Amino acid sequence: MPLAVHTHLMSAWGMPEIEKPLVDAQARCACGGVVVAVHGRVLSMMLCACEDCQKATGAGHSALAVFRAGDVRIEGDTRSFVRPSNSGATLTRWFCPTCGTPLCGGSSRMAAITIVPVGLLGGGADWYRPNQLIFARSHHEWDIVDAALPRWQTYRDEGGRG
Ligand SMILES: [Zn+2]
Ligand SMILES: [Zn+2]
Repeated sequence: MPLAVHTHLMSAWGMPEIEKPLVDAQARCACGGVVVAVHGRVLSMMLCACEDCQKATGAGHSALAVFRAGDVRIEGDTRSFVRPSNSGATLTRWFCPTCGTPLCGGSSRMAAITIVPVGLLGGGADWYRPNQLIFARSHHEWDIVDAALPRWQTYRDEGGRG
């Protein structure tokens, strides 16, 4: 792993090395057709209340963990949905074409990372401790989130604390 990439990710996702759990987990989508295996250190953990996550989960926010792209392996038939973000990057979300389970996501702006919805990992996610809520601008009051959690209007690195 190149050190430069690592440093960039540290500043972008703002998580001290010591808080990063080492994850070794494997899970299947609801129908069993796709296997997702994660082996590596978590770069960041966050709740995301963007409108896309709300539609993908049917809930008020998604619970996400960020990994190096090479630390996430996906086997099986998948389909993806691509959309432009406000910042100009392209966001891609992969899911199982049979059961619709969200598998992972990524941004063209940060090709070195893969974002995993932790609910996918089931009991293999007991290490999960989200430390921020992003896209608070579209968060709904009915969706109860720990008030002590730092909130950002969009991404942490774009400021706009709210
Ligand atoms: Zn499936
Ligand atoms: Zn989101």
